[in-house]
Amino acid sequence: MYNPKSNVAEEFINHDEILDTLKYADEHKRDEKLITEILNKAKERKGLSHREASVLLACELEDKNKELYSLAKQIKQDFYGNRIVMFAPLYLSNYCINGCVYCPYHAKNKHIARKKLTQEQVKAEVIALQDMGHKRLAIEAGEDPVNNPIEYILECINTIYSVKHKNGAIRRVNVNIAATTVENYKKLKDAGIGTYILFQETYHKESYKKLHPTGPKSDYAYHTEAMDRAMQGGIDDVGLGVLFGLELYRYEFAGLLMHAEHLEAAFGVGPHTISVPRICPADDINPDEFNNSISDDIFEKIVACIRVAVPYTGMIVSTRESQKTREKVLNLGVSQLSGGSRTSVGGYVEPEPENSKQFDISDNRSLDEVVNWLIKLGYIPSFCTACYREGRTGDRFMSLCKSGQIQNCCQPNALMTLKEYLQDYANEDTIKLGEKLINDELNNIPNEKVKQIVIERLEKIQNGIRDFRF
Ligand code: SF4
Ligand code: SF4
Repeated sequence: MYNPKSNVAEEFINHDEILDTLKYADEHKRDEKLITEILNKAKERKGLSHREASVLLACELEDKNKELYSLAKQIKQDFYGNRIVMFAPLYLSNYCINGCVYCPYHAKNKHIARKKLTQEQVKAEVIALQDMGHKRLAIEAGEDPVNNPIEYILECINTIYSVKHKNGAIRRVNVNIAATTVENYKKLKDAGIGTYILFQETYHKESYKKLHPTGPKSDYAYHTEAMDRAMQGGIDDVGLGVLFGLELYRYEFAGLLMHAEHLEAAFGVGPHTISVPRICPADDINPDEFNNSISDDIFEKIVACIRVAVPYTGMIVSTRESQKTREKVLNLGVSQLSGGSRTSVGGYVEPEPENSKQFDISDNRSLDEVVNWLIKLGYIPSFCTACYREGRTGDRFMSLCKSGQIQNCCQPNALMTLKEYLQDYANEDTIKLGEKLINDELNNIPNEKVKQIVIERLEKIQNGIRDFRF
């Protein structure tokens, strides 16, 4: 039985409910009256149910689809303004005992170079990332209780936060590691992590079993209920995602929204972020072997539908996507981007061996090139990490976000952290563009008092002081 409040995976991600939803969406894909009603509901900016959003995803009426895209753009602007938060992944270890068939780190891949960073190497990677200008990382590691136990992850987090190189600092560490116990989630919380991210990969249980034939990750329920345990462990910012291309995208989309609804129903806090990775080429992995891959058009529609269905959530796109695709989805609702990423263990310090990446990168530009490009497109690249450091997490964050008040923090923080970036890391052209952007954007701060504080702080940053935040 479908029950969003249940703590049993198959009840909150219910297969029959998804099949009914897909049937309903198919029956109504040209139902102008219903689609108009759903779009009107979305305009209230309170989100949509998985059923309603699935109808929008299936919609075949061109006019209504156009309306959907312009609404997505508007909702993004209302909730997030024009700032785009920057981050980078940091791979700690590619030892893994799982058998995920779509990932080159799977245990049976014998020709991949296996590596686990020592604490000295973590430091060196962090210095390289700081020298690019990064302040926010997502750490990644395979699942291996012997090589990558929780103590190793905690030690790495500690090392990352301790590195203070020139004016650099990593101020927020998000964690993307395998599903674990409530006790381990508590330890991560105590280590001061930002968001706990875990991709479901696929919500389709039968496919999940085939795609995860061996290792602890093959337990669908344990994996699917991980966010519940993370919440019980005190982590109230969690990040969802599926790997599009593994199963039918409409199925995954409905499952993803049901997961978001479950977190709201059971804990009163929806997902902090949703990531939308698509399957990519890598060593040992040929995406053509997965026959559910999605076109760019469908990818863009998924992004727009998530934006209107879960307006408060941050949406993340990585360097798996090309510059062209990233540009399109930025417009439709994406609020976080990675830049200058390396997807192998130790890749920021040493050149990456071809067979050690988790996936091939489509957007190979440096962080400065991405920042420069964003400014030219009219966005404010932001290195802000303020919320969790100010205790704005979980339901506190959600209520500020849902009411639109978070904008009062995001925009000034974006300007101040961009100023830091320009002072410490940018090249000449980016400095010119960035300074102009900051000056222009100061006029868009509605509160005169806040504006004056920002002006004062920008001056202090110019004089070498760092780390201001609202
Ligand atoms: S997806 Fe994660 S768990 Fe699966 S093989 Fe790759 S690193 Fe291991
Ligand atoms: S103020 Fe909070 S929500 Fe806004 S960019 Fe900073 S960390 Fe993100």
